[in-house]
Amino acid sequence: MTNRSLSDIVSCVTGYDPEALPVEQAQHIIREFLKPVEALEKVAIRSALGRVLAQDMVSPINVPAHDNSAMDGYAFRGAELQPGENAFRVIGTSYAGQAFDGTVAAGECVQIMTGAMMPAGCDTVVPQEFVKTDGERITILPGAVQPGDNRRLQGEDLSAGKVALKRGAILRPAHLGLLASLGIAEVPVRRKLRVAFFSTGDELRSLGEPLDEGSVYDSNRYTIHGMLTRLGCDIIDMGVVRDDPALLEAALRSACENADAVITSGGVSVGAADYTKQIMARLGEMNFWKIGMRPGRPMAFGRISSNGKSAFLFGLPGNPVAVMVTFYFFAREALLQMMGADAAPLPMARVKSLSPIRKKAGRTEYQRGIVSRGTDGDLQVSLTGSQGSGILRSMTDANCIVVLPDERGNVASGDSVDVMMFEGLV
Ligand code: AMP
Ligand code: MG
Repeated sequence: MTNRSLSDIVSCVTGYDPEALPVEQAQHIIREFLKPVEALEKVAIRSALGRVLAQDMVSPINVPAHDNSAMDGYAFRGAELQPGENAFRVIGTSYAGQAFDGTVAAGECVQIMTGAMMPAGCDTVVPQEFVKTDGERITILPGAVQPGDNRRLQGEDLSAGKVALKRGAILRPAHLGLLASLGIAEVPVRRKLRVAFFSTGDELRSLGEPLDEGSVYDSNRYTIHGMLTRLGCDIIDMGVVRDDPALLEAALRSACENADAVITSGGVSVGAADYTKQIMARLGEMNFWKIGMRPGRPMAFGRISSNGKSAFLFGLPGNPVAVMVTFYFFAREALLQMMGADAAPLPMARVKSLSPIRKKAGRTEYQRGIVSRGTDGDLQVSLTGSQGSGILRSMTDANCIVVLPDERGNVASGDSVDVMMFEGLV
């Protein structure tokens, strides 16, 4: 982790130009400057869903604890198998949770249930559907099994003393199950990240207020609320702050005294009433960028301090789609890093564009798209119509973002493009 100042980091970026900053450089600067929140807490396993694992989890036991059967069938010594049919005498039964504790001699087998312990000396299970039964005798059909088949080995899932889960994992349902399989009831997780946010703008009205002429309802606070909640942050919604220097300063100070990170929307472009930038700069070390992207060009990033407390600050643009795009492509990864999460970059799929897309080389564009399956079975994408940065419907209609990188020019119909899907399986 770095203790470098923002200006140190920026001075190492070749050709740094805050007026035309490539997306990757902005992401790099943010990554270098941030520090994770170290504190951890212990939570019950169910409450650990979506949290970030704070320590490596070493398995205290072997899973499975014993060799056991993967099928309902008959267990015997695999070395006895001969070409053709094989006959055995059934001398007992091994149930899951109630093992057969006798010895199995040559020519003998034990009926066994899925998950039941393998009787001593037995290493092979023939599934019952490959067997003819006749009282105490069974006959195994030719070629039904090989020695060692249908047996789960002790420790094949996890072995005692080995790291079962690495710190930094974001705990999904499978992780909870795996921890339970180790007998672990409490999990060390990073404490939740506290994120304060507010909207800026004299034209903004909160829900419940009348919409007088020239005003708009504040929608950013709700998209930001949703995005932060999905990330698993503790959120502090500070409402709308008017374009007034004293109010902005008070809001920023309070946010920074109570949160690890602060997210604002609006006020970071060049508008006349935008005092936001001046106040932000006065409270800490801030960069103001025009990023080579669309939508979402203006953005502020840095760290502010007040009364001995400090917080990282993301000043997102005001336009509703720009807010979402800058959140997902800058703030999301940054907040995960602060949460101590070891988050791999989101996967992109390469699909066919159904229509031409106008694209200027030299900036990254994030167009809203709908991925579907074509009659040929391949994935294809179409755009959601008007791509204006204020048109939030382009996000609700979409199921993906089409990412067109800097170097890319116009896209012809049928060309491949990269998409990032909104929803994942787990
Ligand atoms: P600004 O960056 O403050 O100049 O805002 C750019 C545009 O986004 C303006 O049209 C604003 O009205 C709009 N805008 C800013 N904040 C919000 C918000 N919280 N909800 C909806 N629209 C907003
Ligand atoms: Mg504004």
